[in-house]
Amino acid sequence: MATCFTFSNAGVQSIYHEATHAWFDIKSARPDVAGLVKRGKVYYSGSLRSSGQKVDDEDRALQEAAAAYVAHRASSYFAAYASLSNYEKLLGHPPANGVTQALSMARRVPSEYDIRMADRVMGYQMMSRFSSVQDPLTKPISTDLRAFCDRVLLELRIPDSFNLALPLKRRYDALAQKFPTLR
Ligand SMILES: [Zn+2]
Repeated sequence: MATCFTFSNAGVQSIYHEATHAWFDIKSARPDVAGLVKRGKVYYSGSLRSSGQKVDDEDRALQEAAAAYVAHRASSYFAAYASLSNYEKLLGHPPANGVTQALSMARRVPSEYDIRMADRVMGYQMMSRFSSVQDPLTKPISTDLRAFCDRVLLELRIPDSFNLALPLKRRYDALAQKFPTLR
């Protein structure tokens, strides 16, 4: 992943992460949300954390899984968008010796997008009740929590495949028309 937009990626990640927590908090009384949370707690209960201990704070686990999932999708989409903008600039006014490197980095944008969007293991709970250390979950986000986040929070705007992310795909294709080695 190109590094020049790291700070902005982190910003997008934080905004979506905290907004997801706020959304679940505000909507907690909604029957569909309450049902989702209830099922999520059962799903994570007793599953392994990275430390080898079992999940015993199911509510935190599922809340962090949802927030991390939404944030990861949004920031990965943004990272691809920012990278393409960067390469459009570099390839629009290429320094004589920079084209090959810019092309080789641009060529990785679609596959990096697909790899990031396939990530499913997200979230954490605290190591122990009074600890400030995060202990990552090892169980992939549940299918129904993921589908809910995709549909309700991300409004089905962030597909798994770069080829279906049309605003990104169109920009990549425009670059590939000028630089056929991107195909
Ligand atoms: Zn969080």
